[in-house]
Amino acid sequence: MSADLTGAFRRVTGVLGEDPNLITTLEVVDTLNEMVEGVHPILRCPSGCARCCYQQVFISEEEWAILLPALHRDSTADERRRIVRRARRLLDRKRGPLRRALRARNIEELSQLTMNVDRRRVQRCVLLTNDNQCAGYHGRPMICRAFGRVTHTIDNPMLCKIFLDRISDAGRSHRDLELPDFGPVRAAYLLGTAEDLRFTLLPVFVFLHADADGDLRREPQPLPRDGSWPVLTREEIAEF
Ligand code: SF4
Repeated sequence: MSADLTGAFRRVTGVLGEDPNLITTLEVVDTLNEMVEGVHPILRCPSGCARCCYQQVFISEEEWAILLPALHRDSTADERRRIVRRARRLLDRKRGPLRRALRARNIEELSQLTMNVDRRRVQRCVLLTNDNQCAGYHGRPMICRAFGRVTHTIDNPMLCKIFLDRISDAGRSHRDLELPDFGPVRAAYLLGTAEDLRFTLLPVFVFLHADADGDLRREPQPLPRDGSWPVLTREEIAEF
């Protein structure tokens, strides 16, 4: 481990302080990502790859409040309508592939159901466009920025399979790569600024914000707390 690099990572996460907001936290992750890509070329994404977007991500109400305006800024109304249609298909309570997930009674069940769905039909994120771009890239959630390079513990590196294969093909171990400690970033993310912060699957946010024309409303609404959708508390998300 190089003291210089460790120190540089620590200086970046140090700006989070005791009272971070989500925008600062996302900026910190982006900076860490750029640093990691700079020092470890083996962790640069292949051009056009969207492999880590073949999943359903959990996001917070605060993240949705950043993502929704980005979708209005960066996507056309037609693309937003496509996003709404994809979310409706996924969440159809009778035939949608996530119908069992919507009845999950606890976080373990919910997480298992969303992980074990058919990759081709279900796991593609509703924001992933037909040409493999994120429709809300500039407002994308924490996990989408962090996964693959920043989120890291020695026992659970959380590097994508492409990176792990490259490392193994080079006869190396992920333990050889110096990566930032994600702990302070994760703590800042979970702290959030809202007292009663809730999380759910991204397509649920999309579904609940569809307007009468099948476009997305502009104003973010809080998630229902009446059990009508699988909504998780900060403490439950922290167990992931
Ligand atoms: S929000 Fe964007 S970056 Fe995140 S999984 Fe979906 S398409 Fe990929």
